[in-house]
Amino acid sequence: MATEDPTIVSFTVRDLRWPTSLKNIGSDPMNLAGENALAYLQYHTDTELSGTGWSFSNGQGNDVLCTAIRSLAPRLVGRKLSSLTSNMGETQRQMVSGQIRFMSPERGVLQLATCAVLNAIWDLWAKKERKPLWRLVCDFSPEEFVRCIDFRYLTDVVTPDEGIEMLKRLEGSKSERLRAALENQAVPAYNTSAGWLGHSDDEIRELLQSAMLQGFKHFKLKAGLGLQSDRKRLSFVREVAGDSAVLMVDVNQLWDVDEAIDYMKNLADLNIWFVEEPTSPDDILGHSRIRKALKPYGIGVATGEHVNNRVMFKQLLQAEALDAVQLDAVRLCSVNEILSVLLLSAKFGIPVVPHSGGAGMVELCSHISTIDFVAVSGKKSILEYTDHLHEAFAAPAQITQDGYHVTPTVPGYSCDVNEQEFEVYECPAGSFWQSEQGRTMLADPWRGVPNQQRS
Ligand SMILES: [Mg+2]
Repeated sequence: MATEDPTIVSFTVRDLRWPTSLKNIGSDPMNLAGENALAYLQYHTDTELSGTGWSFSNGQGNDVLCTAIRSLAPRLVGRKLSSLTSNMGETQRQMVSGQIRFMSPERGVLQLATCAVLNAIWDLWAKKERKPLWRLVCDFSPEEFVRCIDFRYLTDVVTPDEGIEMLKRLEGSKSERLRAALENQAVPAYNTSAGWLGHSDDEIRELLQSAMLQGFKHFKLKAGLGLQSDRKRLSFVREVAGDSAVLMVDVNQLWDVDEAIDYMKNLADLNIWFVEEPTSPDDILGHSRIRKALKPYGIGVATGEHVNNRVMFKQLLQAEALDAVQLDAVRLCSVNEILSVLLLSAKFGIPVVPHSGGAGMVELCSHISTIDFVAVSGKKSILEYTDHLHEAFAAPAQITQDGYHVTPTVPGYSCDVNEQEFEVYECPAGSFWQSEQGRTMLADPWRGVPNQQRS
């Protein structure tokens, strides 16, 4: 263990945007053209160590996120790392307290910005301990784990003492799962790369076949733009992938509740495990109703990538609205709040299948899913793998030849982006955004809105 205790002395915030819309990456029924973007925070210390954390956006608005981070980040300048990590649950509570809370407590832009700030602390902590983040957390005692959680609003469902009991029950078998993690057998991957809406049949076939060769057995496809075209595309995928493949569809909040039920009933014969984000992410009772209505048809319901906080997950679980908890590593309030949602999900026995469809998210979520398997649920789940932009990261996510995520080994939370990416894609100074194409894209205030909806 490192003995130094870094003090945070300054920070930098940068707006990084990759023009992913040019390749249809991330296209879905509600987001036809998105740029994977990070509002990127680095805390500098009086040692050689720095801590990196970021918020994710779909391009437009990333400057707003950067401004929110610049507003919050000064709170931790001057602090010794140990003064923040000795009670991380309390540190989280401090970060969401004060005047800023009026802006919308624990949700929205400020929640995303707080996530960046606290993830930078987690990254610094793991780097200081010279461990990958997942290992830092898995080495916690149950008491230390629970101390990282702000239990405010959760104690009607799970208390710190109950959390400790739950974690203790798994301690005896933890070393087995730790070994599996070290052998890259902790987190099976599922594939979304073949499922973006912009691909032709030939592209889909090629992407599916190469994914199957890599060991993938689970595939998720965007859907919702028309029953006939969905049926045709999903049947084609079923034909290429075979009967044993597990298929999921994602409609990104497209429907009203009854519409979701009617539409999905019509696809029941295609044997779909779950429909993701069938309706508004805020509609907890709506999700519950869709799940009940689709259960007889063998179709489950998943959501979470736009669920703002632990309280909403608590209610989704209480309302029996979910077959998969799709928490997002950078929408919840950092590792702190994720640990609380892992505990809640384990209590209700619902698998955690994190959302990781954007740049850098697989890097972060491979830590989260490993923590869930080794220390919290004790069960293998699956984690999304998309194959874009890994080369941009200093500790890129990888998969094994038998379809597992490679367990991270580099100290930290795998947040660091390679410096050369900023030369090209920092917005607006990077060479791409200074090009004519880049300037034209940035000048359009309706980015991502189809032409027919602009007037
Ligand atoms: Mg999704």
